[in-house]
Amino acid sequence: MTIAQITGAIEELAPVAYQESYDNSGLSVGNPQNEATGALLCLDVTERVVQKAVEANINLIISHHPAIFGGLKRLTGSTATERVVQLAVAHNIALYAAHTNLDSVRGGVSEKMCDRLALKNRSILQPANRLVKIAVYAPSAHAEAVRQAMFAAGAGCIGQYGSCSFSAQGTGTFLAGALATPFAGKRGELHREPEEKVEVIAHESQVSGAVAAMRAVHPYEEVAYDLYPLLNEHACVGLGMVGELENPLKSNDFLQLVKQVFSAPSIRYVASGNRDIHKVAVCGGSGSILTNRAIACGADAFVSADFKYHQLQEADGRITVVDVGHYESEIFAIEIFYEVITKKFPTFAPYLVKYAINQIGYL
Ligand SMILES: [Zn+2]
Repeated sequence: MTIAQITGAIEELAPVAYQESYDNSGLSVGNPQNEATGALLCLDVTERVVQKAVEANINLIISHHPAIFGGLKRLTGSTATERVVQLAVAHNIALYAAHTNLDSVRGGVSEKMCDRLALKNRSILQPANRLVKIAVYAPSAHAEAVRQAMFAAGAGCIGQYGSCSFSAQGTGTFLAGALATPFAGKRGELHREPEEKVEVIAHESQVSGAVAAMRAVHPYEEVAYDLYPLLNEHACVGLGMVGELENPLKSNDFLQLVKQVFSAPSIRYVASGNRDIHKVAVCGGSGSILTNRAIACGADAFVSADFKYHQLQEADGRITVVDVGHYESEIFAIEIFYEVITKKFPTFAPYLVKYAINQIGYL
């Protein structure tokens, strides 16, 4: 099978369009139409990882962190990133990443953190609000085809429900000009047509596809449709998650649980007094910017990584913050890749590499 087929399976769960603006997820090196000789799954692409792929004759590396993140202006081998890309190109190895898009979906990195802590009643911590309402006016007899075309293009999803739409009957009017070829009525005569207004919601990344699919089945020469940007939050897309422990835990017991389930050699934390921990927010990787959101959601604790000293100080007294380590909070990404690929392609056996940037030492 091709590299595109394998990465396509990952994108069914985590569309690349869901990534944050600063990110560089997707394929950054390689030809997607090449046959995949295997897939190496990792958190970070280092020279050591690429070398491992070379030795194992694997031509696709799938990582959580993009190999090229901050841009490249030359390939002289003077930085680790340049050497990784040179090595990959030299051995015809494709580099693919699913980063903030994998952080932003149900079933992604933060959901895996919820699984580890056995959190109930989960929801997205910081829902994205990149939603658009598409309203299309179609002759009544063609409204169903228009609706189904937009559903097939991914529009009409609200939370756990698909194929959501609203319709209203009405009357459209148009006066076809001299060069027009009207679907109904005559040139130069005002026509009244029984129409249906079909409304669906879509993520902004789906809009152009949904509009193209709609236009392909719509019978009018000039299709009337409206696109409205919405302020609504997307219930299923966004960073971090929040949920509840089955039973509240004493602060110390919670900290021990976190250390254990994330296999962390050590954790940093600032505990919020002796308050019991029931509601817990999580975010894989550097989630410190979501601390205030976690507080606003009423979470008793926030588990993430890369907190600065003053960020911990600010949180003091308002929420228990646990810095579990960047690697420890995100290593589940490779489990997700593995599950997605083997579910879709049961005979395909990805190769897992579980090491950090280099061996991180703890004294
Ligand atoms: Zn990360």
